[in-house]
Amino acid sequence: MTANTVHAPMPEEAAVADPLVDLAHRLLKEIGEDPDRDGLRQTPERFARWWREFIDYDPGTIDTLFETTTTSQMVVVSDIRVWSLCEHHLLPFNCSVTIAYRPVHKLLGLSKFARVAHRQAHRLQVQERLVADIAREVTAITGAEDVAVIGKGEHLCMTMRGIRTSAEMTSTAYLGAFEGDSALRGELLALLRS
Ligand SMILES: [Zn+2]
Repeated sequence: MTANTVHAPMPEEAAVADPLVDLAHRLLKEIGEDPDRDGLRQTPERFARWWREFIDYDPGTIDTLFETTTTSQMVVVSDIRVWSLCEHHLLPFNCSVTIAYRPVHKLLGLSKFARVAHRQAHRLQVQERLVADIAREVTAITGAEDVAVIGKGEHLCMTMRGIRTSAEMTSTAYLGAFEGDSALRGELLALLRS
């Protein structure tokens, strides 16, 4: 091998500043900080890295399915803890997610529910849409029409600012039979209480 494959960055490429780093630098100045003081010197780079880690999050493969012969049995996966960002304040909220569904032919591996929940959480969200997005994705992957998702969240935009009280917010998304069949919903809620 004689070919030289080492590429030096193009001069103009190297000169382009990272807009997220630049933004953090400006933010620090706007809130009256000195971005060049010791503790803050690396903060704009950390800020940029954290945003990219959050947005580019890869939950791994989700489409592992198993065949099932029963169709009426309810499967419940409860208390999947996810972190998301409230799109109104860009502040974090954590959410305990419970997913219930009645499989039709295909069973989703248990760990995959957590991956679905994490993937939907890793973007700017509101809790109501988070549970609806998770429900829709479970339907899309498994083909099951009867899906329920319940989220219980604590929002920093409520506990840190505003009314400054810790409060739990509950959101639900009911698809298929869960929407129309109150007995089925009752069965699920009783199961969660036990
Ligand atoms: Zn908020």
